[in-house]
Amino acid sequence: MSGPASPGTSVFPRLEPLLGSVQKPIQYVGGELNATVKDWDCGAAAEPAGPTVRWALMYPDAYEVGLPNQGVQILYEVLNEVDWILAERTYAVWPDLEAVMREHGIPQFTVDDHRPVGDFDVLGVSFSTELGYTNLLTALDLAGVPLHARDRTDAHPIVLAGGHAAFNPEPIADFIDAAVLGDGEEVVLKISEVVREWKGEDEPGGRDGLLLRLAASGAVYVPKFYDVSYGADGAIERVAPNRPGVPWRVVKHTLMDLDAWPYPKKPLVPLAETVHERFSVEIFRGCTRGCRFCQAGMITRPVRERSITTIGDMVDNGIKQTGFEEVGLLSLSSADHTEIGDVAKGLADRYEGSHVSLSLPSTRVDAFNITLANEFSRNGRRSGLTFAPEGGSERMRKVINKMVTEEDLIRTVATAYSHGWRQVKLYFMCGLPTETDEDVLEIADLAKKVIAKGREVSGHNDIRCTVSIGGFVPKPHTPFQWAAQLDWETTDRRLQQLRDSVRADKKFGRAIGFRYHDGRPGIIEGLLSRGDRRVGAVIEQVWRDGGRFDGWSEHFSYDRWVAACETALAGTGVDLDWFTTRERDFDEVLPWDHLDSGLDRDWLWEDWQDAIDPDSTVEVEDCRWTPCYDCGVCPEMGTEIQIGPTGQKLLPLSVV
Ligand code: SF4
Repeated sequence: MSGPASPGTSVFPRLEPLLGSVQKPIQYVGGELNATVKDWDCGAAAEPAGPTVRWALMYPDAYEVGLPNQGVQILYEVLNEVDWILAERTYAVWPDLEAVMREHGIPQFTVDDHRPVGDFDVLGVSFSTELGYTNLLTALDLAGVPLHARDRTDAHPIVLAGGHAAFNPEPIADFIDAAVLGDGEEVVLKISEVVREWKGEDEPGGRDGLLLRLAASGAVYVPKFYDVSYGADGAIERVAPNRPGVPWRVVKHTLMDLDAWPYPKKPLVPLAETVHERFSVEIFRGCTRGCRFCQAGMITRPVRERSITTIGDMVDNGIKQTGFEEVGLLSLSSADHTEIGDVAKGLADRYEGSHVSLSLPSTRVDAFNITLANEFSRNGRRSGLTFAPEGGSERMRKVINKMVTEEDLIRTVATAYSHGWRQVKLYFMCGLPTETDEDVLEIADLAKKVIAKGREVSGHNDIRCTVSIGGFVPKPHTPFQWAAQLDWETTDRRLQQLRDSVRADKKFGRAIGFRYHDGRPGIIEGLLSRGDRRVGAVIEQVWRDGGRFDGWSEHFSYDRWVAACETALAGTGVDLDWFTTRERDFDEVLPWDHLDSGLDRDWLWEDWQDAIDPDSTVEVEDCRWTPCYDCGVCPEMGTEIQIGPTGQKLLPLSVV
C-alpha cells in the first residue's frame, strides 16, 4: 500500500477520469495561456535559498466568473514573479463536481497544478460580493480545513479574506484567520516575507505566532485577536484587542503610483467560456464623486490615475500577450480620467482597421461626450450605451449626491440617438433612503421622455431604452451605513407599480425594456454586508442546509436564509430585520468601526444628515476639481490625489 501523498502532489490523475461525469469539465483542467506552474519547492533554488511561500488564490465563484477577476489575476502575477513564492488559483466547484469529489475523497484543488489547497501556506480569498461566503465554506470543507479558525492546527493554511467585502469581515470572522483591507499588490509581498521569515525560523509560536507577527506588522486584521461584547439592546458595546501587540484599529492599504504596477502584464486567457472575454486595463483606481451609496467609491479613495502612456503600453502588451480582440478600460467611472479623450482617440487611431475594439464599461451621464463614444465605436459595433442616473427623481439624485439633472440626461441621450445609437440603457436603484412610490414612478416618465426625444432627434421609431433596476443595499464605510434598508415587499411593490405604469403606456411602453430582480436577495446581501460576528452562525447553517452559489438566482433560496436566521440567531435578541431594515444612530458601535478605511466618521455622519435633511442644499463636489472637503482619507492614510493631465499623447505603434 502506498503512503499518504507528499504535500503538493497533483490530484489530477484521480480527478481526470471523473471529469466526464460533470458539466463543463474544461473549467477544471487549467493550463490557460499565461498560467504559471512552479516547482513546489521553488524557494530552495531562490536567491537567497530558503523556504517557499505558497499561496492558493481563490475567487469564490465558478470559473466563468472567477477567471476574469482582475484582483486575483494581478496578485497571481505579482506573487509568482518572486522566485521563492508559488501562487496557484482555485475556484468554486459546481455542486455536481462537489458531490463527485466527496464520493472519491478528492480535496479542493488548484487549477494550475491540481494541488490540494490544504497543502498551501495561505489560502487568499477575494470577495467582491458577500454572497460568495457559503462557497468559502464549501472550499474549506473540501480542502479538509476546519471551518472554524479556532479548530485549525499548524498543518492548515492561513485563510485570508480580501476584496471589498473584507472591509467588514465580521460575518465570516469565525471562518477566516485574517483579512486584508485595501489594495493587495504590496501587502501580499509583505505577508509573504513575514511567512517566509517565520518558516525559516522553524515556525516559532506555531499558527498563533505567525498570526501575531502578521497582525503586529499592520498587514492584516486577525479577528480572533479582538473580543466583541454586546449590550442589552443587542448592539455591540465594545471591540477590543485581547492581547498585546495588536493594534486597536487596522488600517487599509493604498497603492500609490499605479504606473509602477502595470499588472496584469500577462493576462490569463480562459479555456472555458467566461463572463468577460476581453483584456481589461484599469485606467484609474478610486473615485471621489461622493455618491453616498457607493462603497467602492468610498473605500478606494483617493483617485490615482494611470498615465496615458502606461495605459497605451498596457493595451499594446495585453493584446500581444493574449490575442484578445476587445479591450475594456476599467475604473469606477472611466470617462472621468483626465485624459480620456486623448486615450480614446489615441487607441482608436492606433487600432483602426484592425480587429481590436474598445469599450468603456462605466460611463457617467454628465461626463459623457459623444466624441468619446464615437471614438470607442469607431472600430467596433455600436452596442448599447449605459448611463446610471441611479435615482429616478431629481430629489432622489440629490439625496444620493448624484447631481444629474433631467436636462443633462435628455441632452446626453439626444446626442447619442442623433449620432446613430438606437439603444440606451439606464440604471437605477430602488429602496434609497427617503424614497417614496412617486420617486420610483418618475423613472417611467423619464424613460418615456428619453424615447420621445430619441424619436424626435433621430427621425426613427425603433428607438429603445432599457430600464434596469437594482435594490439598494446599505454598505459599511459609506454615509448610508446608518440607513434602514427597505423591506423586500415594498421594493417589489414599487417595482411592480413601475412596470405596470410603463406597460400601460401605448405610445412608449413597447420601446421600454424593464429589468429588475426581486428584492429578497438584497435583504440577505444586506445582512451579510452590515452583519456582525453573530451572522457567522447563520452562514454556517445555510451552508449546512445546502446553500451554495448564493449569488446565482437559480441556487439562492431566501427561505433557507430566513430559516437559518431563526435558528442561528435564536436567543441573541437580534434577528434579520434588526440587521437590515433598522436605522442605526450615531452612538451605535458598528461592527466595522475598528477597521479604518480612512474616512472620518464625523464626516460620514454629517454627509448622512445632509442626505436626509429635506432642506439641505449641500452638494459634495468632486475633490479632484474642487478643494479638499476633508473626508479624512488623505491625511489619515498619508495619500494624495494622483491625476493628470500629463499632456502626453499616444503614438501610433505600427501600422496594424
Ligand atoms: S481627504 Fe480631501 S482630497 Fe483626499 S479624498 Fe478626501 S476630500 Fe479628497
